[in-house]
Amino acid sequence: MALLVQKYGGTSVANLERIQRVADRVAESRRRGNRLVVVVSAMSGVTDGLLRMAREIDREPREREMDLLLATGEQTTTALLAMALHARGVDAVALTGAQAGIVTDGTHTRARIANVTPSAVRAHLQAGRVVIVAGFQGQTMGGQITTLGRGGSDLTAIALAAVLRAARCEIYTDVDGVYTADPRTEPRARKIREISYDEMLELASTGAKVMQARSVEFAKKFGVVFEVRSSFHRTRGTMVKEEAKSMERVVVRGVSLEKNQAKVTLAGVADRPGVAANMFSGIARGGINVDMIVQNVSLPADGKRGKAQTDITFTVPRDELSKVKRYLEKFRQTGGARQILFQEGIAKVSVVGIGMRSHSGVAAQLFRALAKAGVNIQMISTSEIKITVVVDESAGPKAVRAAHREFRLGGRAQKR
Ligand code: ASP
Ligand code: MG
Repeated sequence: MALLVQKYGGTSVANLERIQRVADRVAESRRRGNRLVVVVSAMSGVTDGLLRMAREIDREPREREMDLLLATGEQTTTALLAMALHARGVDAVALTGAQAGIVTDGTHTRARIANVTPSAVRAHLQAGRVVIVAGFQGQTMGGQITTLGRGGSDLTAIALAAVLRAARCEIYTDVDGVYTADPRTEPRARKIREISYDEMLELASTGAKVMQARSVEFAKKFGVVFEVRSSFHRTRGTMVKEEAKSMERVVVRGVSLEKNQAKVTLAGVADRPGVAANMFSGIARGGINVDMIVQNVSLPADGKRGKAQTDITFTVPRDELSKVKRYLEKFRQTGGARQILFQEGIAKVSVVGIGMRSHSGVAAQLFRALAKAGVNIQMISTSEIKITVVVDESAGPKAVRAAHREFRLGGRAQKR
């Protein structure tokens, strides 16, 4: 009998009716003879609601109690799903993350899994039960309840699939797979049948928010093959797995669009060791996620030769801009930079594909396509399997469609 790990996300268990539908699916799979571990998220919106309540009471709630609070969302759906299975005559047991043996470090609200000791899970499986596990939560060695960071139920599922050596791991969500682009932006987007971990990671971290990036990293590290698929349809989803030689034939696997970004430019920064280290350390201490750092040589403002200076540009998520501003204003006042410019209303467009490693001229091809579409490029950065450009936010969708067309990613327009 095959062991399956299934994970149902927040929209799949958003209300009682949907929980009933999940129970039908699980019961059916059980009757076909599979052994099942089912990881569930909180009902969609519940985690956000809990966060809001906490912040209404205390602007900076303590993280230990925050975890205690957030963990309740997943416990609700876990218990309800078990009950729905009982009502169908299926033997099932609901477990908290701690009961399932998810042991984490002590970093409250974004804990890392230290190890998984699934003896209870194994015993219940052995006894023929469907094991329902609360996603997104664990427990420290010392018995404190922790959570794994937003979207962390994916991680629970992948980790359990890894230690239990599950035959399959299925991530059920509200989209039916990973697409070559967001179908809302590009109606010709197609579902990708197979994608490598690295491509999935680049797409996940650049805006195609199908899955938590940390979970994909974890899956890669432990070689967990998983399928992203819809809990509403029966259609096959996208397999995420180790890259194979055949995957390299496709130069670009997908295009992603990341909106709500801002660009920061510091002009006249002293060009000597330690300056960038100092500035970015300060920003990092604020927990701000900096991306696309570009530094180049600049002449002094008066055009005369003087002390060596440089310009530094980078992007940050727009909602972190005010924090960055506060910090950099101090940096400027203490002589760190001559001038600082902040620009909102930009977007990042990325093309991703492991085929880029063995094909040349991909960047030039992308830039030509963008030029033809009349899209101005403000910044460029590349990695081995990704090219990202910063464009005006309003030009983002057009840029996505131009790239999608250029690399022939489309099928027929999707009915929506
Ligand atoms: N409920 C948590 C969240 O909303 C975890 C998850 O859904 O995976 O982030
Ligand atoms: Mg979720």
